[in-house]
Amino acid sequence: MVKYMEKVFGVFGDPIAHSLSPLMHNAAFSALALACSYHAFKVSPDRLEKAVLGAEAMGFGGLNLTVPLKEKALELSCIEPDPLAKKIGAINTLVFPNAEEKCQIDREDGGKCLEHGKILGFNTDGLGAKRALLDSAVEIEGSKILIVGAGGAARALSFQFVEAGADVIIANRTEKRALELARELKASLPESQVRGTGLFGLDKLVREADVLINATTLGMHPKTDASILEAEALHPELTVFDIVYNPLQTKLLKAAKEAGAKPISGVLMLVYQGAEAFRLWTGLEPPVELMKKRVLEALGT
Ligand code: NAP
Repeated sequence: MVKYMEKVFGVFGDPIAHSLSPLMHNAAFSALALACSYHAFKVSPDRLEKAVLGAEAMGFGGLNLTVPLKEKALELSCIEPDPLAKKIGAINTLVFPNAEEKCQIDREDGGKCLEHGKILGFNTDGLGAKRALLDSAVEIEGSKILIVGAGGAARALSFQFVEAGADVIIANRTEKRALELARELKASLPESQVRGTGLFGLDKLVREADVLINATTLGMHPKTDASILEAEALHPELTVFDIVYNPLQTKLLKAAKEAGAKPISGVLMLVYQGAEAFRLWTGLEPPVELMKKRVLEALGT
């Protein structure tokens, strides 16, 4: 287990003022009586390397990276991505191991992070999404999952669900991005069931899907009146997972309820991806229920 005494943690991104991560992680540190604190920092992509190295030099325990830094982080030679983050093409969590606090995190490739002596990059978004679905008793293996979007979050989700044995369709406004992502997935997991397409014919794809995931920015605050689909296009056998979590009840989730489908809020993914990062930093079991409670309170429930 990593010993974290009075460590500072943070999230880098731009914009960042809206982030709920400080609230969630500070609640977790307090609950476990760890003298650690977590803060939000506005960092632009061109300053990312300096900011990461500065945080390491100052003895930070770890960082989260959010929009627009997740993909940029893979270009930095000071960061060693774990195999999953490399495959996904994005990093959302950094761990700074050091000699005094022997970091024992097991890497996916069997090594221990200390052996590498570098800042370690992980991606917990996919795991967070998978846990959110499993928590809601949604089957993944063998299910037909339709992911709308092909940006950073869609990349993490599609890798996670394809790897877990789902039959995945990626539909994106810019069709080229969906085709490219599906091609990458197929190259790294040749046995996988995955294809990319544009948004044309989305209604038909939804009729054939078990799970619909919105991984676009549509419906996100402040443009809350937008949705990828209306209630008429949904059906009662469908699970609708909207990874947008602000507002809590997106227009798509309201439509899902109206259609008798099963709605799942993106808040669960937010909490679970944060919990996975917490586990990587501290080696401790994160107080997930408390983290969820704090986030829900902040979102006004
Ligand atoms: P991103 O990389 O910027 O990707 C945005 C995606 O949205 C692209 O596929 C884009 O399509 C699509 N899009 C944007 N405007 C659209 C429109 N008007 N019509 C159709 N598609 C449109 O963003 P991201 O990092 O993947 O994040 C996506 C969303 O997920 C954000 O709302 C973010 O807050 C949320 N998120 C939630 C969690 C969580 O823990 N719950 C974690 C990560 C992200 P094009 O390719 O055509 O531009």
